[in-house]
Amino acid sequence: MGRLVSTEGLTEEQVEILKLVRQFVEKEIIPVATDLEHKDEYPTEIVEGLKELGIFGLMIPEEYGGLGESLLTYALVVEEIARGWMSVSGVINTHFIVAYMLIQHGTEEQKQKYLPKMATGEVRGAFSMSEPSLGSDVSAISTKATKLDDGSYEISGQKMWLTNGGSSTLVAVLVKTDEGDDSVYKNMTTFLVEKEPGFGETAQGVTVPGKIEKMGYKGIDTTEMILEKHKISADQILGGTPGKGFYQMMDGVEVGRVNVGARAVGIANRAFELGIAYAQQRETFGKPIAQHQAILFRLAEMATKVEAAHTMVVRAARLKDSGKRMDVEAGMAKMLASEYCNEVVEASFRIHGGYGYSKEYEIERLYREAAFMLIGEGTSDIQKMIIGRNLLKDYKL
Ligand SMILES: Cc1cc2nc3c(=O)[nH]c(=O)nc-3n(C[C@H](O)[C@H](O)[C@H](O)COP(=O)(O)OP(=O)(O)OC[C@H]3O[C@@H](n4cnc5c(N)ncnc54)[C@H](O)[C@@H]3O)c2cc1C
Repeated sequence: MGRLVSTEGLTEEQVEILKLVRQFVEKEIIPVATDLEHKDEYPTEIVEGLKELGIFGLMIPEEYGGLGESLLTYALVVEEIARGWMSVSGVINTHFIVAYMLIQHGTEEQKQKYLPKMATGEVRGAFSMSEPSLGSDVSAISTKATKLDDGSYEISGQKMWLTNGGSSTLVAVLVKTDEGDDSVYKNMTTFLVEKEPGFGETAQGVTVPGKIEKMGYKGIDTTEMILEKHKISADQILGGTPGKGFYQMMDGVEVGRVNVGARAVGIANRAFELGIAYAQQRETFGKPIAQHQAILFRLAEMATKVEAAHTMVVRAARLKDSGKRMDVEAGMAKMLASEYCNEVVEASFRIHGGYGYSKEYEIERLYREAAFMLIGEGTSDIQKMIIGRNLLKDYKL
């Protein structure tokens, strides 16, 4: 354990949870991560281990069977897991967002129905906003729920890029419902769609065609989802009232941004560790490359970026835990951590010379993982839009 990414002021319980997770990552994840990733194999044993550790219920309140931990604990756990293998953090992220949305916006009945089973990992969550023709511009959603005479709804449309689309059993899906409001944002509703895990027709009118082949972030399933006249009860509307879906999803995405920031810190930290180790082993011109000042300076810059990103992520998480607004801070943390992650990974890749290009070296995997940090939960351009617009409000002349 080096000195990077330590956090002041943690409770004994937080320290204990992090210690257990770190041990799990060292023993169960790092030794198998690169192999599983290259085989694009689902990390079943690792997921079972996470269930035993209680990670699926980390932030679910104790009254619903979870550990009732804070967003800060969650973010620090994600840093540790992503340091081992980013795909594993992806397994829990959409689950966590759906659980968070249920805690914040669900009816008591919905909480009772889903949260205890989510805490054990028996019910696994995915969330779905994106469609083939949109990601950043959520207002362009075209998947539609039509109200039927019996009060239920019928959903039709195509969704894209569902992380855990195959393995999940509960998908929070954002669709259009025409409730007659002038604002497009108030005519959107989140439905809780239940389905079987796997591919093909996984519920009436719900087809998950198969895994999308990706550049990295392998092992975990990312899918499309086609809804064809999927009949669903009005009880499955998150919070019970239509028209609130956009705001519920944006709340979920806000904590999701802290999560992606934390993942980026985990990847960057690992890339730094690999780089500083390699720099002391590899010799050129009669000495370890770490003793060439250009490499030493590169290491210093990498470590500084890891620390800065970690600090921003911790600050955003602590703000949220204290009940304060944190859209700007979450956007800043996500943008800075993901951009720095790419820079640190690139620097470590360069330190590895030709070997960094070999699939035998972990940095090759991190290089492909880092790229996704720039996209997930909104690109840097979108974070800049959120940050900039809010700053204009705060600093209005
Ligand atoms: C592996 C993976 C997993 C994912 N998992 C999920 C998931 O679980 N659920 C889900 O709903 N989605 C998921 N997504 C989708 C992801 O959220 C979107 O890909 C992302 O938000 C970007 O949207 P887009 O791909 O449509 O890009 P676009 O919105 O088409 O953007 C294209 C480019 O234009 C830029 N741009 C767009 N608008 C503006 C603007 N106004 N100003 C300046 N620049 C702009 C963007 O920054 C980007 O560079 C996933 C994506 C991937 C790759």
